[in-house]
Amino acid sequence: MIDLHCDTIYRLWEDDDKFSLISNSYMIDKQKLIDGGVKGQCFALFTPMYDVRIERDRDKTPWQIVNELYDRFCLELERSGIPQFESVDDLDKNELSAILTIEEGFSIEGDLSRLSIMKDWGVKIFGFTWNFENDLGYPNSKDPSLMTLGLKGKGIEAISECERLGILVDVSHLSDGGFWDVVKYSKKPFVATHSNSRFLTPSTRNLTDEMLKALADKGGVTGLNFCPAFLKSENTPNRASLISDMVRHVKHIINVAGEDVIALGTDFDGISGDLEIASADRLPILKNVLLDAGVPAKSVDKMFYDNARRVLSC
Ligand SMILES: [Zn+2]
Repeated sequence: MIDLHCDTIYRLWEDDDKFSLISNSYMIDKQKLIDGGVKGQCFALFTPMYDVRIERDRDKTPWQIVNELYDRFCLELERSGIPQFESVDDLDKNELSAILTIEEGFSIEGDLSRLSIMKDWGVKIFGFTWNFENDLGYPNSKDPSLMTLGLKGKGIEAISECERLGILVDVSHLSDGGFWDVVKYSKKPFVATHSNSRFLTPSTRNLTDEMLKALADKGGVTGLNFCPAFLKSENTPNRASLISDMVRHVKHIINVAGEDVIALGTDFDGISGDLEIASADRLPILKNVLLDAGVPAKSVDKMFYDNARRVLSC
């Protein structure tokens, strides 16, 4: 399996030295990944904006924070012995590889030359926004006047710079206007690392059918997010149905945009609530439920591995 998004490094960093990636009480640690059969785990360096920070980090610059997160990522790999992803061959060869990603383009403080530094760190995916406006663009929003805003000039420049460096653009959290600008200006596949179907669950974090089709046309993928808020609908508010909601989302996304667009983007350690699959070691449950629900084995294999591997090779 390949999981396109988790916030475990951010949690480890926020909790100082309480836990490690070797073993912890979070949703992801080394053993849980191995037990779940995860061969590639994306670890996002999530850089929080000033007003969502804990007191300790109030005065730090975004660049300082993302550097601290990167240092923590390196320390955790050294401690745990998990190798860092360099190419897709590592996924086939190693029991487990750690894929470095960025969530929140604010981290580079508008300086696109820092994308080259991140490339040297091994960053493979770069999320343009989290839930706030930044130098690159605007976030997903219930406010249509914000949601329709496209990328800023620097955001458009960032697309070609990411593509030049071999970093995938991540549109999860971006405004709809920003999404369509990525469709317009990108020349390579891009990704939504952790977003579901907006037709089934009308969250602004999810993608409309038109967006899913455009993403598929570009050769990109969307990772199924396990957050209840992005899976449930008015008709299925109960916890007992969360896995069946996942099945509905997977089937709908495949129906609308084909079996090459769906991947896994759990959002583990960034989500809460009543989760039926609440840690990486339990991921095989979803695989089995999808097969039992009639999703073809080939599509399930693509969702859990082949599609993400394909975009990571770009
Ligand atoms: Zn996120």
